[in-house]
Amino acid sequence: MIMGPDSTPKVSDVSAGYLAGLTPNQPSPEEQLAFLAKLQHIFEEGEFTATYKFALLVALTELAVERGADDNRSLPLQIRWIAEKFAELYWPQTIEYSTGAMGTTPALLAQNLGATTRVVSVLTNLRRSSGASTIATAKRSGQWDAAIREIAHTVRAQPLKYLQNVGGTSIPFLYRFLEEPGWIALRPGIASNLRKFQGLVHQIARAGWVRHVRENPRNSVVIGGLGDLEAFMFGLTRSNLEPAREFLVKLQSRRCFYCGESLGAAGDVDHFVPWSKYPRDLAHNFVLAHSACNRAKSDMLAGLVHVEHWRQRNAEHGDVIGGELGERGFLVDSKCSLVVARWAYQQAANTGANAWAAASRMESIGLEHLAALG
Ligand SMILES: [Zn+2]
Repeated sequence: MIMGPDSTPKVSDVSAGYLAGLTPNQPSPEEQLAFLAKLQHIFEEGEFTATYKFALLVALTELAVERGADDNRSLPLQIRWIAEKFAELYWPQTIEYSTGAMGTTPALLAQNLGATTRVVSVLTNLRRSSGASTIATAKRSGQWDAAIREIAHTVRAQPLKYLQNVGGTSIPFLYRFLEEPGWIALRPGIASNLRKFQGLVHQIARAGWVRHVRENPRNSVVIGGLGDLEAFMFGLTRSNLEPAREFLVKLQSRRCFYCGESLGAAGDVDHFVPWSKYPRDLAHNFVLAHSACNRAKSDMLAGLVHVEHWRQRNAEHGDVIGGELGERGFLVDSKCSLVVARWAYQQAANTGANAWAAASRMESIGLEHLAALG
């Protein structure tokens, strides 16, 4: 079907094209470069009066990883899904930031130059009224749906409306609104590009977000001159993972997930697909490992035997892992964990990256790793 430039497609138009694979090729190198150049243009010259646009770029990238494919098709997305990403992204920032340093005052970080940020105040109210301390608990509360509806409204009215405006001009290369209210579609090839350049987009968006918060005069009395702001904003503190340890010790019979040797008393909770590649705490992505094994693996993907082991563990114990870690406040989505692992290994295979096998031994990532993920 051919549509004029002004017609608004429906979800079914986009989905039909998506499922039928009308344009199954990947974006060409030229299209990839054009994508990066436009993205750079947005970051350099777009009007970022609030942090929403950074959050929107991170959210779209995560949704492309979780729901998209490595081809040229368009991807329909519900604005509600974007709102759920916003809730996850802003949740760590709905508690007061405190440096403990002289001359600073603990407070919520200001996310824009004007009035209180709507998304943060909705989430702060949700935290209070539901009594939830983690986003996973908040999701199970009776107040979640209403909060997400409100955030979706803000996302629709603000960052989705303005992200693609640069210097008074609209460059609508990322997405368009669909006829059904509550839906957008990533334009052809955009999901594939976001999947390919996920690391880059995340890094630039997060750095821009931190800078925006740091340079906001309203935050100067809160932040002072100290520098753990990024860790606070994105919930990077390892202590957050402690509640998972006790369960993983039992599950793994006190043995290291990677080398199989006894853990003794210690052990690190490790993200199987590294946090640096996909910064969400999904229950099925956790393993327990020696500190030394964890450090040696660092930000790399794990080798073939580990992939097989991880897949088998989640197949056998997936329900228990979801149940136990869900109760301890972690997000549970075993299907998403697997999809994300496939994406990470596919991208690594495309770029010829190595995986960590053991100690200082590496292996190249190939089809066998993808096959092991089904
Ligand atoms: Zn070990």
